[in-house]
Amino acid sequence: MPPRRQRSQHREALMALESLGLGATLESAPQHMNSYRYGRPSSWHAGGPFLCSIFRVVYAIFECDFSTQNFIIVPNLHQNAAGAKIAIHSKELFQSRDKVPMAEPTTSLPLTASHVDQIFPTLTAAQIRRIATHGRARSVRPGEVLVEQGDKDIPIFVVISGELETVRPSGAHETPITTVPPGQFTGEVNTLSGRRALNRIRARQPSEVIEVSRENVLALVQTDGELSQILMRAFILRRAELFTQGLGDVTLVGSNHSADTLRIKEFLARNSHPYSYVDLDRDSDVQTLLDQFHISVSDIPVVICRGETVLHNPTNQEIAVCLGFNQDVDQAHVRDLVIIGAGPAGLAGAVYGASEGLDVLLLETYSPGGQAGSSSRIENYLGFPSGISGNSLASRAYIQAQKFGAQMLLAKGMRLICDRKPYVVELENGGRIPARAIVIATGAQYRRLAVENLSRFEGVGIYYGATFIEAQLCKNEEVIVVGGGNSAGQAAVFLAEGAKHVFVLVRSDGLADTMSRYLIRRIEETPNITLLSHTEIVALDGGGHLERVTWRNNQTGKTEERAIAHLFVMTGAVPNTAWLDGCVVLDANGFIKTGPALSAEELNAAKWPLARRPYLLETSLAGVFAAGDVRGGNVKRVASAVGEGSIAISFVHQVLRE
Ligand SMILES: Cc1cc2nc3c(=O)[nH]c(=O)nc-3n(C[C@H](O)[C@H](O)[C@H](O)COP(=O)(O)OP(=O)(O)OC[C@H]3O[C@@H](n4cnc5c(N)ncnc54)[C@H](O)[C@@H]3O)c2cc1C
Repeated sequence: MPPRRQRSQHREALMALESLGLGATLESAPQHMNSYRYGRPSSWHAGGPFLCSIFRVVYAIFECDFSTQNFIIVPNLHQNAAGAKIAIHSKELFQSRDKVPMAEPTTSLPLTASHVDQIFPTLTAAQIRRIATHGRARSVRPGEVLVEQGDKDIPIFVVISGELETVRPSGAHETPITTVPPGQFTGEVNTLSGRRALNRIRARQPSEVIEVSRENVLALVQTDGELSQILMRAFILRRAELFTQGLGDVTLVGSNHSADTLRIKEFLARNSHPYSYVDLDRDSDVQTLLDQFHISVSDIPVVICRGETVLHNPTNQEIAVCLGFNQDVDQAHVRDLVIIGAGPAGLAGAVYGASEGLDVLLLETYSPGGQAGSSSRIENYLGFPSGISGNSLASRAYIQAQKFGAQMLLAKGMRLICDRKPYVVELENGGRIPARAIVIATGAQYRRLAVENLSRFEGVGIYYGATFIEAQLCKNEEVIVVGGGNSAGQAAVFLAEGAKHVFVLVRSDGLADTMSRYLIRRIEETPNITLLSHTEIVALDGGGHLERVTWRNNQTGKTEERAIAHLFVMTGAVPNTAWLDGCVVLDANGFIKTGPALSAEELNAAKWPLARRPYLLETSLAGVFAAGDVRGGNVKRVASAVGEGSIAISFVHQVLRE
């Protein structure tokens, strides 16, 4: 059994894997430290065994398998999304043992040894023949770069003879990632999404390869079931490894005491984008990086894209632009269907719509997943008896939607132009997206507490989601969860795993009316959770971070101040409908009315143009549907959001035929 610290680090790495949609990997991953196999570049021949034996003895973490010409990734000074130390070594560093900065690793490496065959599968001759019909054979010279970091529309390469390698360029240096021998292929999820290449692919030897364009890869995964399974699984697992190792095209320099650092970390993690993290307060080599990019401490947080562009405390949109998230999306083209919001409802609509041949564009302000994406573990969604994190569910759904050809634009819908057809969704940046049919799946937003100072501590002590990232911040500390719904219950149970104590505060007299029975039972059975009923927060204090919280019992009037630095607000939500500006009929609480809920008077007032009444999920605007939490009368559950998103598509087909 590994030591306790090691086990918890192992869990962190697994959590990061899970955030990439790898629940199954998580469940079956071994609970011991393991080797991590990648192809060994020639520059490693001298230093590899030495380093490996050092690590084996000193850290008892790694195993090297030199018989199979493989190497391990060596931990260094940069933290990845999982808090793991990851390798940012240059080849030159590897050649000299003295130069290798052997910082103590803080976590196990991702435990994928049992999945190596799935990450790097070797295709059979018959499978290669089938792929070959979708691609073109070509010869490549040693050293020839087939894909450069930042390239768009990346093809995949199946190696017939010779060998390719994948490396992470950073300035003049490179981090070896993997080699691709005959029978294997390159590619990861950006091949599907059309986003920019995260790393460089080059021939190591004279090689014969089959190049398959992105377009043909998409066609292949939609038509060849066997190859689809092999390619999709490899792409997803590879992305998970890149994420867990921080082997991408972004470096974040920040501080764990900064709300914006947390925001950027979450944005990248929720979009499953690999990044390396350099902590101003902890990493000794941070000054070198600051000097190299002419950054001062006051600029923090800083995002460095592809080692070229330095963004000082960028907005999420600026990061999306820098990383080219939206680059491939044709915004002028009239789509069959535009879905606004990529929560469970929007993602379901995208999967069903695209798989049924519709030209689908998803608009999303932040990242796929919506509210569900901030859920640490959803235990009541059909088919996941041991639960699934919201982020994992969202990542899988998003990749599934991409597989069928749906596209996503990271942008905020600001206005619906509804007085003409095609309808137009106007974006925050002024862009305009025309659509024949629309599904509004913008969900709801967290309610905020009516307490002074709230906004001052948002992100630095006050959080609206309890994911792995927040849980890291409050390990062994006391935390407060405000709210009596299922989201509050889940957060409390999840946080109690690492926190010293969790106080659950509700204004009512208990949880019975608002929380599922199974969660109430978990709370009752968890010794480090205390439920405080009839209680509300009345004051927040601190400097740069929340330090003290005062609560009051409304029955006794007694107040109590405690030195608590982490407060999770889980108090329900209000619908995201303000931007619709009179285009569709809303109910008294701002939710969208659909189908039978719309009265004849409301339809007359809205100038309903058709002889038929609105379909089940259709709004008062013909051809515009609402699905999920944003819809009046919807049951606020992942399953109902997914159900409505998919049902809406059958009505979209009917509307497009009208
Ligand atoms: C912490 C937590 C735990 C939960 N746990 C469970 C559970 O265990 N089981 C369960 O069944 N349910 C659970 N829920 C509820 C469930 O997550 C929601 O019912 C579900 O996510 C609703 O899906 P949706 O797609 O309708 O909306 P959302 O998930 O709210 O997604 C809406 C999306 O629209 C985007 N958006 C909003 N406005 C715009 C705009 N103008 N332009 C572009 N994009 C926009 C948002 O960024 C968001 O991504 C939980 C909720 C929370 C918060």
